[in-house]
Amino acid sequence: MTDSYSSRLETLDRTGNLRQLSEIDPQGGYLQRNGISMLNLSSNDYLGLADNEILKTEFLQTINSRDCRFSSTSSRLLTGNYPVYTRLEERLARLYDAESALVFNSGYHANSGILPAVTDSRSLILADKLIHASLVDGIGLSKARCIRYRHNNYEQLERLVFENAKQYNHIFIVTESIFSMDGDESDLPRLVALKRQYPNVYLYLDEAHAFGVRGLHGLGCAEEQGVIGDIDFLVGTFGKAAASVGAFVICSNKMKQYLVNTMRTLIFTTALPPINLEWTLFIVNKIYDMQARREHLDRIAHRVREALNPLNGGICSSSHIIPYILGESERTVDMAIRLQREGFYLLPVRPPTVPPGTSRLRISLNAECSDTDIERLIHTIQHLQQSL
Ligand SMILES: *Cc1c(COP(=O)(O)O)cnc(C)c1O
Repeated sequence: MTDSYSSRLETLDRTGNLRQLSEIDPQGGYLQRNGISMLNLSSNDYLGLADNEILKTEFLQTINSRDCRFSSTSSRLLTGNYPVYTRLEERLARLYDAESALVFNSGYHANSGILPAVTDSRSLILADKLIHASLVDGIGLSKARCIRYRHNNYEQLERLVFENAKQYNHIFIVTESIFSMDGDESDLPRLVALKRQYPNVYLYLDEAHAFGVRGLHGLGCAEEQGVIGDIDFLVGTFGKAAASVGAFVICSNKMKQYLVNTMRTLIFTTALPPINLEWTLFIVNKIYDMQARREHLDRIAHRVREALNPLNGGICSSSHIIPYILGESERTVDMAIRLQREGFYLLPVRPPTVPPGTSRLRISLNAECSDTDIERLIHTIQHLQQSL
């Protein structure tokens, strides 16, 4: 290893920013690490379905050995496009009452591939400052010009659209519905109203944290806020609340055809294994009616926000993702260790994932957490907070 690598690692270590892969063994809403059982507050399994024995058993009973394939053998454009892709995409399109859905290997593939495919040097991307890394990478691969607007600052966004609408063929507003790190949300009706004033403005919405969780049938914040039909590219992922793997975009027929012909992260990669797509379809049908889980998650999230939002210096979650901001990385790591000792599996989130000085524990609640778990969590945090 040359020394620049070693010294980079040493710097990361010294500043409390060195990351490590640790082995964990999930067990329902809990997990085991180094033989210690802790409440799992760090997964994205928001509905608590990933380790659900009843669902697993039911799924395995419905699957015959012909559909039980563990490889798709090639890209979707070669021999990888198994019939279950069509069934899943038709189901998604019907759920969203939309023309089309297109499924991808992951949210990372979707976000790093769609923008480079649909933009060129005559396009402008206006992206929220806090969008996910996969979107940042998609923007980096596109030939479009990009301006990042201040987080959820719609006055600035409206001004940027107004000033640039005539100079570009297309403008893409790119944002998330629930933001990964702060747990706050976009005002979708306001974004839709802005987009409607211009014929060449498109709305790209990443619902990774909202799919399965929000809306009467779990379709996301666009369902909850009644704007599904106004989102040009609605992206959802299956690796979080849907307890599977993959992602999708809801879009027009024409756009689907265009993506199939131009999107490199769809064309140049092996399709998902059919067994995963079968499981995804099974879960997508189940979560449609999981209102009780969504309501429980909403209730416990409300309780945790009440306790933590006042400690966070202006960052204000409105969802099931609730940061506990501690500031410096070392202090955050120290608090993570203390809370783990008390039986709560929380992990420090540090720069460059979040801005310097806002290191935090990211509490990501799931529907398997009981009211008792949550009260003990709040009590423990309040107790440790006094000793800071
Ligand atoms: C997790 C996440 C992704 C990536 O999805 P994967 O399927 O895990 O690759 C994309 N966008 C956001 C906002 C996410 O949180």
